[in-house]
Formats: sequence, structure tokens, C-alpha cells
Amino acid sequence: MTTIALNLQQQRQRVQHACHAAGRDPASVTLLAVSKTFGADAVADAVAAGQRQFGENYVQEGVDKILALRQSHPGVPLVWHCIGPLQANKTRPVAEHFDWVQSIDRLKIAQRLSDQRPAHLPPLQVCIQVNVDGGPTKSGVAPPDVAPLAQAVAQLPRLTLRGLMCIPEPAANDVAAHAVFISAKAIFDALNASGLKLDTLSMGMSDDLVPAVAAGATLVRVGRGVFGYRALKG
Ligand SMILES: *Cc1c(COP(=O)(O)O)cnc(C)c1O
Repeated sequence: MTTIALNLQQQRQRVQHACHAAGRDPASVTLLAVSKTFGADAVADAVAAGQRQFGENYVQEGVDKILALRQSHPGVPLVWHCIGPLQANKTRPVAEHFDWVQSIDRLKIAQRLSDQRPAHLPPLQVCIQVNVDGGPTKSGVAPPDVAPLAQAVAQLPRLTLRGLMCIPEPAANDVAAHAVFISAKAIFDALNASGLKLDTLSMGMSDDLVPAVAAGATLVRVGRGVFGYRALKG
């Protein structure tokens, strides 16, 4: 067994335990493997261990891996999520190659992605990134601005709005982290109550996936826990 296969097994168990502790069905939480800074060979190890959904932060690096894996694993249905901040001049390769974008933080980016999504592909699946804790260095939409942006994004023809993503500042402990994740869940529930049909609440990473699952995360994004420590970039 490769190290990555062992790590994956461990992270899947963590998610399962967190679900059981919270009285949730383990099948209700997707484990996204965040492969940024790691090569196509590392992704191939994860694919061999049954992983199918991957997250990338940097557009060109992500597109290179998507193309490499399509060539090395033809017919294996991998799902690629763009989870990094997106500049307007980089939307085209994302619209052409990724399946999901979790980091929508303004209408202009969403409009460009919708315009640029090729007709032969299914709609791009998107989440709005919310800056739940008001962290000054974080991208993401302030909580009061989420609902109007969500309503506008939901109208775009080549996008499907799936939910919210958040990256809170690292918390002092799981109790503090849980409180922030609970606010994200409240925003998510309010959007659904207002008539949107959202099924994805993307929150929790290697260090805080347990409190995120307890608060209702449906997708956790795990990098180091699966692939190990990254070099400085990212
Ligand atoms: C890097 C990254 C992750 C993974 O973080 P780890 O701490 O390595 O698990 C998750 N989400 C986003 C948006 C990231 O940039």
C-alpha cells in the first residue's frame, strides 16, 4: 500500500467517526483530496486507492494535472474542483477544464465562467465563498452580501449553484471552530429557506474537519492529511 493510500484510508475513517459522533450518515460527506503542489503521480496514487474528487488552487497547475490524468487514466471519471481565488483573466481555462468552482466571490467571475463554459460540457457546478468570520486576509463574500449574489448566480445559464464554501481563520480549538462553522450552516439554511436548492456546504480541512462535520459540512477539503506536507507555496 502506498503512503497516500494509507493516508486516504485514515482520512476516510476520520470523516466516518466525525459523522457517527454527530449522528450523521457517513455517505452525506464527500472527501475532496486537495492535490495542490503535488504532481500527477501523487494524484494517480490516490486514484488507485479509489479517490475520484480532487481540489486544485492554481489554474495552470490544475489544468496540467487534469490533462495528464485524462491521458494516463482514460475513462476514469475524475471530478476536479477549483478551490483557489480566481482572477477574471484566468476564468477561461477553468470554464473549459474544471467540473466545479468553489471560490466564486463576485458576479463578474460567475458571468465570465457561464459565458465561457463550452456547450458540449455539463454546466459548471459552483459554490459561493463566504467570509464567515470576517478574516481580513480572506477572499470571500461578507455574509449580508451572500443572498443577493446567490440569487444572481443561480440565474446564469451555464452554471449550477450548489452551495457555499468557507475557509475560517484557524481557531484556538474545536469549540471555537465549531461556532464559526455553525454560522456558515445558518447562512446555508437561510438560502435554502428562501427558495434556493443547495446541497453542498464545503468546509473543514485537515486540522478542523471534525468540528466542520459536526456543524453540517457535506464536503471536506483535505490536503496535508492525504498528500503530506507541502513545500512553502500554498
Ligand atoms: C490548501 C487548501 C485546503 C487543504 O488544506 P490542508 O490544511 O492541507 O488540509 C483546503 N481548502 C483550500 C481552499 C485550500 O487552499
